[in-house]
Amino acid sequence: MSIDLDWENLGFNYRELPFRYISHFKDGKWDAGELTGDATLHISESSPALHYGQQGFEGLKAYRTKDGSIQLFRPDRNAARLQNTARRLHMAEVPTDKFIDAVMQVVKANEDFVPPYGTGATLYLRPLLIGVGGIIGVHPADEYIFTIFAMPVGNYFKGGLTPTNFIASHDYDRAAPFGTGGSKVGGNYAASIEPGEKAHAAGYSDVIYLDPATHTKIEEVGSANFFGISKDGEFVTPLSPSILPSITKYSLLQLAEERLGLKPVEGDVYINDLDRFVEAGACGTAAVISPIGRIDNGDDKHVFYSETEVGPVTRQLYDTLVGIQFGDVEAPAGWIYKVK
Ligand SMILES: *Cc1c(COP(=O)(O)O)cnc(C)c1O
Repeated sequence: MSIDLDWENLGFNYRELPFRYISHFKDGKWDAGELTGDATLHISESSPALHYGQQGFEGLKAYRTKDGSIQLFRPDRNAARLQNTARRLHMAEVPTDKFIDAVMQVVKANEDFVPPYGTGATLYLRPLLIGVGGIIGVHPADEYIFTIFAMPVGNYFKGGLTPTNFIASHDYDRAAPFGTGGSKVGGNYAASIEPGEKAHAAGYSDVIYLDPATHTKIEEVGSANFFGISKDGEFVTPLSPSILPSITKYSLLQLAEERLGLKPVEGDVYINDLDRFVEAGACGTAAVISPIGRIDNGDDKHVFYSETEVGPVTRQLYDTLVGIQFGDVEAPAGWIYKVK
C-alpha cells in the first residue's frame, strides 16, 4: 500500500515523514534508539557538529519490487563507510547491526511512503551522525546523536537517463590531498556550494573536481563518482584517496566485469585525455547513473557519446544496476536485504 503522491515528479526534495529514528551516545555507550514523530533536533548551541563540522552522513534507498515487497541495496556498505567516517573524525561508531536495524525500522514505520514499483521513485534514507554537547574547544565531542530520516525521491539530476553537461573546476577544490575527501562529511559539501551554484547558474548539472594537488586528473562530481567507457571495452574510474568511495561505483566495477564482460580499471583519468572514452557518466545512490553528455574544460568542450542520447554501455549498466535494486535482475550474493 502506498499513499497518493505524484510519484513520477518527486524530484529530490525534503519531505517531513511521520517517523524517524534517533539514538543518543552518552557516557561511552549508545542507548537503544527509538522511532520518533519529532522532526526537530534539540542540541547544545556549543555542539562541535555546528562549529567544527564534526559530523558525517550517509545516503541509501529502499526499493519497492514488483511483488510489492521492499528491499535495501548493500546497507552493510553504508554502515561500514559511516564507521570509517566516524574514525576519521574521532566520533563514536555506530555498529553495523544497529545501523541496519535502524534503517529497517524507519522504512517499516514510513512504509506508505515507499513509492510503487514502476514509477522509478524510491524512499531515500539519510543517516546522520553528529557530535553534540557543550564543548567549545576544538576536541571530539563525548556525546553523539545518530538519526535516520527518510523521504520519497525521484531522480537527483533532472532528466534521468538523459545526458547532461558538466564543467571541470580549476578554481575550486572540494577536498585537500590529505584532507577529508574520502569521508562522507558536510565539510566537503560546504567547500562545493559556491562552485556548484556557479555551475548551475551557467547551465551545468554539476562540477567535475580535479585532483587538488595538480589539477590534471578527474576526481569526482561532488556528489557522485565519475566513470568512463574506453574504446577498448574498459570500465574506468579514477583512483585517489580524496575521492568519496561510492558504493554504486564499486558495484558497477563488479557488474561491468561479471555481467557486461568489460575490464574494470581504477586508475588515473587525465582531464586532457578524454578522447580515450566513448561514453561517460556520474554514479551514486542519489544520481543512480547519469550519462555525461559533455565536459567543458576551459576552451575545450568534450562531447562523449552524444549530448542528447545515452550510450549503449551506459544503458546496459543502468538496466543491470537498477534491475538488481528493484529485484528484477538477480543480485550478486549478499547485496539485497529484504525489509520484513
Ligand atoms: C555519497 C557520495 C557519493 C556516492 O556514493 P554512493 O555510495 O554511490 O551513494 C559520491 N561522492 C560523494 C562526494 C558523496 O558524498
